[in-house]
Amino acid sequence: MKIPKALENVIESFEALPGIGPKSAQRLGFYLLHVPQSDLDGFAQALTNLKKNTRMCSICFNIGTTELCDVCVDPERDTATVCVVEDALDVIAFERSDKFKGVYHVLHGVVDPLNSIGPEDIYIPQLIKRVQGSVGSEQIKEIIIATNPTMEGEATAMYIVKQLKNQNSKVNSDSMGVKITRIGRGLPVGADIEYADEVTLTRALEGRSEY
Ligand SMILES: [Zn+2]
Repeated sequence: MKIPKALENVIESFEALPGIGPKSAQRLGFYLLHVPQSDLDGFAQALTNLKKNTRMCSICFNIGTTELCDVCVDPERDTATVCVVEDALDVIAFERSDKFKGVYHVLHGVVDPLNSIGPEDIYIPQLIKRVQGSVGSEQIKEIIIATNPTMEGEATAMYIVKQLKNQNSKVNSDSMGVKITRIGRGLPVGADIEYADEVTLTRALEGRSEY
């Protein structure tokens, strides 16, 4: 049987999503045939509006609806401490724990040579620029690297450390440069910060160590 083109298009779109294989994509596509047209229209509209009605914060690249995200506009936050995370979902995880009072920097990915994702493809250059800028106004004192404890997460952390240490060595000697720390080992190897519970995250944050 030849699958109609309209259905094939939907299946292909699902298949392009992470974690969805050809079988699941097919199942979802066929499932949608039973959904009322009005619901499908709503689904399509939500997709259409997704990127139109959201934007990346111009400081930390977190997801929000205005120029600056909710964290960056909050005057209570400590802008001297920046927590570097892989994804905006990790910001949500840290915010849930309600212990971190600093600000974030969202990388939107990890360095992953196997999938040809280099440092320039994620928001690392913007982080380095942010730290450079802090010598004057933003006054960043500590960068907490909170990438996931996976191979790619560790490689990304190491790359950032190297760049920041380079940066520190250029700062004049009467300044200490920025302190670089890594969240603690409370997180099991291969874990995903996004799914970590509040207690584990708080412990990982408190147990951070300096590079
Ligand atoms: Zn922000």
